Amino acid sequence: MNMDVLSTNLESINCPCCGTNSNTPWGEELGFSVVRCIECRLLYVNPILKSNCIDVAVREGLHSIGGNQLDVRSRRVPRKIRYYQSKLKVMFSDLWQSGKRIDWVDVGAGYGETLEAVRDLAPPGSVLVGVEPMKYKAEMARKQGLEIRNSYLEPGMFQADVISIVDIFSHIPDFHSFLQIVTKNLKTGGEIFLETGNLADLALRSEFPNELGLPDHLVFAGEPQVRRYLTEAGFDVIQIKKQRVDGFLSFCKSVVKKLLGRPVVLGIPYASHYRQLLIRARLRS
Ligand SMILES: [Zn+2]
Repeated sequence: MNMDVLSTNLESINCPCCGTNSNTPWGEELGFSVVRCIECRLLYVNPILKSNCIDVAVREGLHSIGGNQLDVRSRRVPRKIRYYQSKLKVMFSDLWQSGKRIDWVDVGAGYGETLEAVRDLAPPGSVLVGVEPMKYKAEMARKQGLEIRNSYLEPGMFQADVISIVDIFSHIPDFHSFLQIVTKNLKTGGEIFLETGNLADLALRSEFPNELGLPDHLVFAGEPQVRRYLTEAGFDVIQIKKQRVDGFLSFCKSVVKKLLGRPVVLGIPYASHYRQLLIRARLRS
């Protein structure tokens, strides 16, 4: 990276969770730094790319930084459909068993895998819509027969029973503001399904056996910070499941990434304290 060009597009920020500005270095990747908030222990990229740069990357799937192009469009992963089917089938079993139609919105729908999982579980007559700001991903998800809005979530777009927020927490610079918009799209007593990693629960960078995904990822929470965000936005946490992702398959993938020169930290399979947090929460009425 050309850091001189890059630095003109960076700005220093306070902690996105608690607002204080005391922090300590935690990790680095591709010339970007992750710090830990002394007050609430959130991890966040600081200095951060300016909001117009983040917006362009989110819409186009490309970061133009320091004269380099970083493609962050990733790809469709069909096995995610089975994964989310199995998790949602259990976590929202009461919804499926009730037989009542539901309005489900998936924010940051990506290639549509989560919405496809919901489509296979939802009672007849249910309305399922994805919201995806990246044009390329939105077009690809539509090819799966899904209804996708190519935009950000705006206040009052929906009156949903459930909004899913899967693997997008780390992409959102201000999750407090985002949750305010989410609440303005839920029915009274509406619910969310949130999935994110618990990176901030790890003491050291070396305990995370993968790459951080900077600068596309901007914020990393742990369970206390996620609970704080949700509580302050008016949600009651109903259930938290913790899923480990450091099995042998993940290890093999990390080895391949390492051989390709990606910034991966290799760990011993089944030794990491890193978990995916799968959370069901309900808006207090
Ligand atoms: Zn903080």
